[in-house]
Amino acid sequence: MRKYLLSESGTFYRANLHCHTTCSDGKYTPEETKKFYKDEGYSIVAFTDHRKFVRHPELCDDGFLALNGFEADISEPTPGGWSLTMKTCHLCAIALDENTETAPSCAGISYDGESISAYIKSCKDAGFFVTYNHPTWSLESYPEYMGYKGADALEIVNYGCVVEGFNDRNDHCYDDMLRGGERLFAVGADDNHNEAHHFGGYTMIKADELTYEAVAKSLKEGNFYASEGGPKIEELYIEDGIIHVKTDCAREIFFSTDRRICHYAKGKDASFALREFDYFRITAVGQDGKCSWTRAYFLFDKKRK
Ligand SMILES: [Zn+2]
Ligand SMILES: [Zn+2]
Repeated sequence: MRKYLLSESGTFYRANLHCHTTCSDGKYTPEETKKFYKDEGYSIVAFTDHRKFVRHPELCDDGFLALNGFEADISEPTPGGWSLTMKTCHLCAIALDENTETAPSCAGISYDGESISAYIKSCKDAGFFVTYNHPTWSLESYPEYMGYKGADALEIVNYGCVVEGFNDRNDHCYDDMLRGGERLFAVGADDNHNEAHHFGGYTMIKADELTYEAVAKSLKEGNFYASEGGPKIEELYIEDGIIHVKTDCAREIFFSTDRRICHYAKGKDASFALREFDYFRITAVGQDGKCSWTRAYFLFDKKRK
């Protein structure tokens, strides 16, 4: 029997899940930002201004959904409040209920794994989908991010950081956190503050319809994949012990797990035998080297928290 890992039914909607506007330090208003993204074929933008949970129901129409969110930042103590060597943890929190009106504040949270994990929990308890953002730009590495528990997803690509020169393509960080026991998904985002950051990182969300409720359900269930302009991942399913992935134009496909079990295939489609591992994930590479990434799938044990 065929089991679809990306749902068979529904429509893929292109989403930017991390965005700044004039409500914080972005160059463009929410209305201008909507127009840029809608004109480019996006159906969904999560508005995540710094420390400001601003709802944008006025931006929603039949072809566009504004998700309500904010970006939290928790930094190590630094004289003057800012330095070029300061480590910091940034998290986007996206409300899963369009009627949510308030959000937990990150002010005064200590920069340590326990406090940040407790803050992540408080956001999730308040009904938010929490992403861990751009670890490379944040100067965070293994000792820091391994302490963060309970986030819903990691930004596997943050395009705004990439075009600023930070290599925020974070698949190694993703495997580290997964192997450490975190059951988190992967998203792609622009983190746009201006046009230089537009349209390079996105998440393809498969949902039954373009409504807040349906898209929030797909976020919660991990019914999406991340991309930086890589191949479209059209199907992903298991049948008779074989994992099948179909794309529109991949040059090569990588299959990764928590173990020393990996595979490589040339071409736009690939099949891999199901074996014993905690998780697997797929990276599809396009003709130009750009990637799309599925989230990790946990097939055998350990449910997501
Ligand atoms: Zn940030
Ligand atoms: Zn940001």
